[in-house]
Amino acid sequence: MSEVRLDELDVGQLAERVGDRLLRVVSALRPCQLDSSSPACSAVLQAVANPYFLQEDPGGFQTTGWLGAFVTQPSLYAVAAETPEDIAAAVTFARDRQARVVIKGTGHDYLGRSSAPGSLLVWTHRMREITVHQAFVPMGSSDIGFPAVTVGAGARWLEVYQAVTLCGRYVQGGGCTSVGATGGFTQGGGFGSFSKRFGTAAGNVVEIEVVLRTERF
Ligand SMILES: Cc1cc2nc3c(=O)[nH]c(=O)nc-3n(C[C@H](O)[C@H](O)[C@H](O)COP(=O)(O)OP(=O)(O)OC[C@H]3O[C@@H](n4cnc5c(N)ncnc54)[C@H](O)[C@@H]3O)c2cc1C
Repeated sequence: MSEVRLDELDVGQLAERVGDRLLRVVSALRPCQLDSSSPACSAVLQAVANPYFLQEDPGGFQTTGWLGAFVTQPSLYAVAAETPEDIAAAVTFARDRQARVVIKGTGHDYLGRSSAPGSLLVWTHRMREITVHQAFVPMGSSDIGFPAVTVGAGARWLEVYQAVTLCGRYVQGGGCTSVGATGGFTQGGGFGSFSKRFGTAAGNVVEIEVVLRTERF
């Protein structure tokens, strides 16, 4: 069955479920598309050098493409998810209508997988809760517990390093502090041995949070 573009659908029903967390997405580079010599374009080109600026924007990406292999194009609408229920509403809406879903945390993907024209974006940027545990016990386990950190789907490594370090502990992540600590990184997009241990294809599952083991300094 072929996919339906979102502009062919009435998104009003989705808005009823998620309220003002349903956003119309425009490219962060829109001012330059309109007029590349405008002051607004100069300002945005300066701002996009900061990855944290880009990540505040559902239409922002770390790359605009790769040698003609792909061109990054924002989704039409985004659900700025704050709860698992928001994500369920977005996925249910898209599934029932055969519309394409894309997931983006930071937009750090090198292959444009967090972007697709005409799609509905599940934007996890606001889900950045971080909890440091002294003795985490996995559900159903008889383990006595181990030091760990629970990381929301949108949290960046910088935030995780800060939270864990303040508790006198260490967690293994990537060198780029603006990469997301859960989504793409833990699903195989990261370069380190840690992220490869999960081995699944990115884009299949929206993990709400991930538990990472911490070590002493
Ligand atoms: C400038 C730059 C520097 C980098 N530096 C490092 C580094 O130092 N170390 C390192 O290991 N890697 C590094 N990377 C690679 C990075 O780890 C991967 O690109 C990773 O996939 C980024 O994941 P993200 O969630 O931050 O990005 P996103 O673009 O938001 O997501 C990447 C992929 O994961 C999917 N995804 C995101 N969140 C979820 C979710 N919650 N559920 C399901 N799917 C999801 C997206 O759909 C997409 O397919 C770097 C990348 C860039 C662009």
